[in-house]
Amino acid sequence: MYLRSHSYAMSESIGTQTRHDQHGRYPQAATVEDFRQNIADVQARIAAACLRAGRDPASVRLLPVSKTKPESSLRLAYAAGCRLLGENKVQEAYGKWEAMQDLTDLRWSVIGHLQTNKARLVARFASEFQALDSLRLAEALDKRLQAEGRSLDVFVQVNTSGEESKYGLAPEDVEGFIKQLPAFSALRVRGLMTLALFSAEAERVRQCFILLRNLRDRLRQDAPAGIDLAELSMGMSGDFEIAIEEGATVVRVGQAIFGARPLPDSYYWPSAAGAQDSPEASS
Ligand SMILES: *Cc1c(COP(=O)(O)O)cnc(C)c1O
Repeated sequence: MYLRSHSYAMSESIGTQTRHDQHGRYPQAATVEDFRQNIADVQARIAAACLRAGRDPASVRLLPVSKTKPESSLRLAYAAGCRLLGENKVQEAYGKWEAMQDLTDLRWSVIGHLQTNKARLVARFASEFQALDSLRLAEALDKRLQAEGRSLDVFVQVNTSGEESKYGLAPEDVEGFIKQLPAFSALRVRGLMTLALFSAEAERVRQCFILLRNLRDRLRQDAPAGIDLAELSMGMSGDFEIAIEEGATVVRVGQAIFGARPLPDSYYWPSAAGAQDSPEASS
C-alpha cells in the first residue's frame, strides 16, 4: 500500500544499477591515502546521485562502516577524517571503543540488531543506534541511559523487504510503535532505517527504499511531539546511489571504503545466505 505514491527520482534514474556484483571484491584499504581516495570516490558518487535526484549533497551523511576490520584499519580511517564509525555487533564495537579511548572525538554508531541484555553496553559508549525494533529494547536502553546520564540518537529499523529472517518492524507496525517512544526520554528518535533486499535487481531494491520513504512521509504528518522523523538511513556499498535517489539522508558504507570483508554477509543478515550465490556472483 505504501508503494502507491510517486518516486520523485524514478524518471531520471531508472538506469541506476546495484553494485552487488562487486560484493566481496573491493580492494583492501591499507594506507591513509587509500582511505582518503575511497572516501572521496564514495562522496563523488553521492554527489552524482544527488545531482540526478535534484538534491543537495550536504543532505546526505556518509556513515563509514568498520565492522570486522582491525583497530589498525580504523585508525587509518580516523586519520583520513572519519569521526563516526558504524559497527554491526555491539560486543565488537564496545571492544574497539575501549581500545581507542585516546581518540576522544571518535563516535560510534551501532547499526545491527541488539539483544535487550546488551542494552547496557550501547548505553555506555554509543552515540547512535540504528536498529531499534522493540519496546522492550527501548525500555532497556532508556533505563541504562538514564543511569549513565546519557542520551542516544535512535533510528527505528523497518523490514521493507518482507524477508522473514530480516530484523526490523513490519511497516504496518511502525506507527503504533512510534507512538510509544515519547515515554523514553533518553532516546532521541531521528528517523527510520532499513536494509533493502540484497539483489542485483535494481528495481526490487528500489521498491524497499520507496516503501521506507513513503512510510516516513506518512508517519511524519502526525508524529508525536518530540519525535523527529527527518532521517532515512538506507543504502550500503552496493546500492547507496539508488537509496539517495529515493531520499536517503544517511548511507552506511563499509566495503567501498574499507575493502571487502572476510566473513560472508550471512553472518550479519541471516537472510543474505544464498543471496550471495545468486546470479550476479557467478556472472
Ligand atoms: C555491514 C553493514 C552495512 C555496510 O555494508 P557494505 O556492503 O560493507 O557497504 C550497512 N548496514 C548494515 C546494517 C551493515 O551491517
